[in-house]
Amino acid sequence: MRTPVVIIGGGPSGLLLSQLLHLAGVENVVLERRTRDYVLGRIRAGVLEWGTVEMLRAAGVGARMDREGFVHEGTFLAARNAQFRVDFVQRAGKPVMVYGQTEVTRDLYFARAASGGTVIHEAEGVTPHGLDTSAPWVTYVKNGTEERIDCEFVIGCDGFHGVSRGCIPASVLRETERVYPFGWLGILSETPPVSHELIYANHARGFALCSMRNAHLSRYYLQVPVDAHVENWSDDRFWDELRRRIPHEAAETLVTGPSIEKSIAPLRSYVAEPMRWGRLFLCGDAAHIVPPTGAKGLNLAMSDVHYLSEALIAHYRDGEPGGLDTYSERALARVWKATRFSWWMTTTLHRFDDQGAFGQRIQEAEIDYLASSPAAQAAMAENYVGLPF
Ligand SMILES: Cc1cc2nc3c(=O)[nH]c(=O)nc-3n(C[C@H](O)[C@H](O)[C@H](O)COP(=O)(O)OP(=O)(O)OC[C@H]3O[C@@H](n4cnc5c(N)ncnc54)[C@H](O)[C@@H]3O)c2cc1C
Repeated sequence: MRTPVVIIGGGPSGLLLSQLLHLAGVENVVLERRTRDYVLGRIRAGVLEWGTVEMLRAAGVGARMDREGFVHEGTFLAARNAQFRVDFVQRAGKPVMVYGQTEVTRDLYFARAASGGTVIHEAEGVTPHGLDTSAPWVTYVKNGTEERIDCEFVIGCDGFHGVSRGCIPASVLRETERVYPFGWLGILSETPPVSHELIYANHARGFALCSMRNAHLSRYYLQVPVDAHVENWSDDRFWDELRRRIPHEAAETLVTGPSIEKSIAPLRSYVAEPMRWGRLFLCGDAAHIVPPTGAKGLNLAMSDVHYLSEALIAHYRDGEPGGLDTYSERALARVWKATRFSWWMTTTLHRFDDQGAFGQRIQEAEIDYLASSPAAQAAMAENYVGLPF
């Protein structure tokens, strides 16, 4: 098989890139290790920046999001069980959209199938070759047979545990990382959300987040030690602990029910530089990870796709290679700003073992400052709704 662009990974970044290239007449093939059902079963991000919303619309996959998603014009922050609101529209001129990553991925799979796009599932042993030549190729095994695709560019959209990043020689790749000493225990429950907007709560017992997928499906999180086990967290224990950490008014109205999903995610910040080597380009989680505080992971993947799709389309349509040469630099400038914001939210809202009373009071002062300062709220809102790209 021959195609101009091979995309490794059929998550949100790979599928959106595939769709945007297709709309511009640049054919491509997506290789995905898992089945479609497996990919669609992963419960992950839920808050879309407005730039992401506009990209999905431009890609022709915004209709269901506009019907079923929830526009949030602000969010609540809390400390010592008391909350206040930051109005995104007032402070930064834009809202965000609550619409699950699973739904974004479903819409993208539907769109790729409707336009005859090639997405090869259960592609095992995907291996890029000749990335430092002008004629790379990718091999993989499907149904026991090795296949080969010749191409001009290989795009690594294969997430943090993918194969692409490892193809960049160690002498070239720079990795910067911070691992946080805690994780997020998350549950999904078929109950009405406790608040019409998200609540991010700082508490001396640890951070909590009240989020949602829709009017009947809530997503709640608790900060837990990094070595905590899901089996030790019964639903009752989870709900009791959540009530202790969130604002009193939310605790009083919280509707509880059985969890339909429960998992623990570690928190880490990680950036790999550069995001291009030869004919290989990294996109999304393949190049960077942020802690979920601040909802940046999926949105960063989408802004990478914006820069890369623009560059590839300019290359194929206008013979203009400049965008490909500057992709890594442009993408990383935004990645680092989002990494800073996610770190700041994580540091401000979570309990660190060594922070002591001083650290707790400093966090509370930071949150009080946010509550009272329009300038501080504007800085927070500008980053939360997404810096321009
Ligand atoms: C548990 C969890 C919770 C999260 N919660 C949030 C959140 O609340 N808010 C937020 O903004 N972000 C969140 N994120 C991050 C967000 O989900 C990611 O940033 C987003 O999925 C990145 O998209 P991606 O397409 O770059 O990578 P992925 O979604 O990881 O997709 C990569 C794809 O590549 C495939 N793949 C991997 N290796 C290979 C291979 N060798 N060959 C072929 N295919 C391969 C994978 O199967 C996968 O389908 C969360 C992530 C996790 C893990």
